[in-house]
Amino acid sequence: MAYRSAWMTAELDQFRDQFRPFLEKELAPQAEKWREQKMVDRVAWRALGEMGALLPSVPEAYGGIGASFAYEAAVIEDLETIVPEMTVGVSVHSAIVAHYVLNYGSEEQKRRWLPGMAKGELIGAIAMTEPGTGSDLQNVRTTAKRQGNAYVINGQKTFITNGQLADLVIVVARTGEAGGKGLSLLVLETQGKEGFRRGRNLDKIGLNASDTSELFFENAVVPPDNLLGPEEGQGFAQLMQQLPQERLALALAAVASMERAIEITVAYTKERRAFGQPIIDFQNTGFTLAERKTEAMIARVFVDWCVERLVAGELDTVIASMAKWWCSQKQVETADECLQLHGGYGYMREYPISRIFVDARIQKIYGGTNEIMKLLIARSL
Ligand SMILES: Cc1cc2nc3c(=O)[nH]c(=O)nc-3n(C[C@H](O)[C@H](O)[C@H](O)COP(=O)(O)OP(=O)(O)OC[C@H]3O[C@@H](n4cnc5c(N)ncnc54)[C@H](O)[C@@H]3O)c2cc1C
Repeated sequence: MAYRSAWMTAELDQFRDQFRPFLEKELAPQAEKWREQKMVDRVAWRALGEMGALLPSVPEAYGGIGASFAYEAAVIEDLETIVPEMTVGVSVHSAIVAHYVLNYGSEEQKRRWLPGMAKGELIGAIAMTEPGTGSDLQNVRTTAKRQGNAYVINGQKTFITNGQLADLVIVVARTGEAGGKGLSLLVLETQGKEGFRRGRNLDKIGLNASDTSELFFENAVVPPDNLLGPEEGQGFAQLMQQLPQERLALALAAVASMERAIEITVAYTKERRAFGQPIIDFQNTGFTLAERKTEAMIARVFVDWCVERLVAGELDTVIASMAKWWCSQKQVETADECLQLHGGYGYMREYPISRIFVDARIQKIYGGTNEIMKLLIARSL
């Protein structure tokens, strides 16, 4: 029986009928080059913008197409299936950064930044993590001190997705007292910004086409107009409100990755022969794939339900945390088992399963580690 996500619509079918061949023809052939240069070309971002694949759930008045989060979900799934090199960067830009601006920005801020982001001309990043502060977000040390008619930012961030390319960085900075209540979100426009410096494009074991950077702020001046929200001290609450969407985006990518790993492994094990038979005919191979297929189906149904909850404005932190930890855990296990069924070929870079395997691993760490997810769930019990 064919399964169809309940959030799919005829309009989304039409979009995907054009979007998938576009990804296959125009972007996928460039993926190897991007992995080598450790960065996606800007022209690919603009091409996604032209396809209407960036910021689809932002209202038309700000350059989007006024669709629901289901549209973002379809884009994330299709990228993860066809050009996984772009999934993380686009998720951060489209499903995360744009929504901070949309939900907390003033009318002027929305008109200034969102249309350029929708066209792929402005690339967004969000800088929470610091060398000394990851899971413990309330402990952020980067400061933004009000001096006359400006905020002066000092500090350092690390592991920032889109860090090399970003034109806009949402900086989580301390404007007040210790703890979460002293944090604010400030948008730093990077072009020609004195006191702002990008560090290395970090050398990762996977996600090789996604740029991940250190960022340095040494008396970087930002106008007060770039504060997100009506007043200081809202940053931590704003982060907590947006994290369910970020975590669901990660879970969606996890499910698409699992489905792809299983599909290519089924095809491979039907072709590959040992002891005179296709290896899929060994009971171990069949059972392994049966188990993984079942888990992927369970993950799919759960995540689809989460998408519906989010569209209805009802996805809470606990459910989103469940989706993030469980789907990423299953993604990593599935990638490992599927690589195993490829034998030695699975360890070769030219086989896509090898990349699915290394790219999967980070999913248990970023967007809040899976231990933090379980902490949030446990607190609700
Ligand atoms: C490729 C990549 C992209 C990233 N992109 C971004 C980005 O765009 N923006 C951004 O701000 N950050 C980004 N990050 C950072 C990421 O979100 C952090 O690495 C993550 O939140 C964990 O923080 P940490 O690395 O400091 O680990 P730590 O917080 O030091 O954690 C180390 C270990 O301790 C465990 N631990 C910590 N606290 C607890 C606890 N209370 N109970 C149980 N266990 C605990 C953790 O689960 C983990 O296993 C990215 C990271 C990577 C690698």
